[in-house]
Amino acid sequence: MSAESFEVRPDGGRALSGSDAAAYGDDTIFWNVDTQYDFMRPDGNLPVGEGEGAEDIEDALAEVTRTARANGIRVVNTADYHNKDSAEFSEDPDFEETFPPHCLAGSEGAEYVPATQPENPMEIDWREDADWAEVMEHEGDFVLYKDAFDVFAGEPESPHAEQLVETLDPDRAVVYGVATDVCVDYAVEGLMDQGVDVYVVEDAVKGIDPDNSAEAINRWEDKGATIGTTEGLNEYLEGGVL
Ligand SMILES: [Zn+2]
Repeated sequence: MSAESFEVRPDGGRALSGSDAAAYGDDTIFWNVDTQYDFMRPDGNLPVGEGEGAEDIEDALAEVTRTARANGIRVVNTADYHNKDSAEFSEDPDFEETFPPHCLAGSEGAEYVPATQPENPMEIDWREDADWAEVMEHEGDFVLYKDAFDVFAGEPESPHAEQLVETLDPDRAVVYGVATDVCVDYAVEGLMDQGVDVYVVEDAVKGIDPDNSAEAINRWEDKGATIGTTEGLNEYLEGGVL
């Protein structure tokens, strides 16, 4: 740091109080996976948790969202967002590769529940090109639409996730949402594959199958992810970048 930069440094107190964003905002992102009505609520079109939805994690989700806001951290919100002719849909679904229609583009079921409402989001749609110069400039959240379970699937179902992570270039990502054993799993693996340090908020995720979910969480931990709680989140953030 040059002498000149010391001379022009603004009032220390004000810089500190207003600089939570500066402290975490560039090196940390929050990554909210598919917390949409159709998955979260029992009356949704494809509720997780044995059809019961995931309302029981909504208080934790709200707390995680508040933590992001309080620290000026941007949230990447991924969203299942299908056209009517999506390959994922079937009238006779096997619930492994194919499912009943859900999260139709523009439908209420594709909206986020109140606990995870994005703030000033820039939308990045799998059906369109992305404007990466605009991404660089954008200071709010992102909504990343996808037509696949795997947000890092690439062309054509989810072409933009890898480039978004490269562009934002975070050191750390705090991951939460649904479903632990499907879309959260792909998100955690994909982020770690890109060299991002991952903290999974275990009380703010919910899976479809408990055994598969436990297997996924163990696997992430073996690969170096931190499995933590909402309560431990601030400590993780204060711990600085590894
Ligand atoms: Zn889907």
